[in-house]
Amino acid sequence: MKKEKVRGDAERRRSVGAMTTDSDLIMEDPPAGDWLTLRSDQLLEWIDDAVYNVSEATGIREVMNKITRPIFNWGMRFSPHPLHFGIMCCALEMGAASGPDFDAERVGVIYRSSPRQCDILIVNGPVCEKLRPKLKTLYEQMPEPKWVIAMGECAISGGPYWDSYSVVAGTDTFIPVDVYIPGCPVRPEALIHGLLTLQKKIRDHEPGMFLRR
Ligand code: SF4
Repeated sequence: MKKEKVRGDAERRRSVGAMTTDSDLIMEDPPAGDWLTLRSDQLLEWIDDAVYNVSEATGIREVMNKITRPIFNWGMRFSPHPLHFGIMCCALEMGAASGPDFDAERVGVIYRSSPRQCDILIVNGPVCEKLRPKLKTLYEQMPEPKWVIAMGECAISGGPYWDSYSVVAGTDTFIPVDVYIPGCPVRPEALIHGLLTLQKKIRDHEPGMFLRR
């Protein structure tokens, strides 16, 4: 298919979107002044810039950050919302982790079915070439800040299918991964440990997101 910008033309965007899962092709940057067709991340960026400029000019940025960053960081750590998405056997372990025996909810985990409501993508199983662009689109649809967990050998490196023509050799070849959980399959306790590891990472490295800088 010929690669061309389709963002500003709603009619052509719909037709191309129906034929491809390549998010880079579907979601080109809008032409200048085309505000009606802004993507959610572009709109957030625009609002972020406006708020940042005003708060910087008035000198309240530092004060607001000091007050709000610990609150946002605490909220991010203790309410992880992973996408309810499973690929293969490890997905069954993910389900077991949420059952009464292991109860992942006690560390704040609540699964959502829409990427728009999620901040964690748990990849659990072999990602085949056909699935890769769809998974990337799901990742791009998640709002910032967001994190990725590669759960199991398949998600980390392709696992038993590492030399298959149709399996991607690791999630981190197409999206950034924050936590790797080895195992085949990954035990539910290991998934919960991975989520706790991510909480520590957020506490140490993510200051909070009021002004996103
Ligand atoms: S890592 Fe093992 S258990 Fe998990 S999806 Fe791959 S083959 Fe299945």
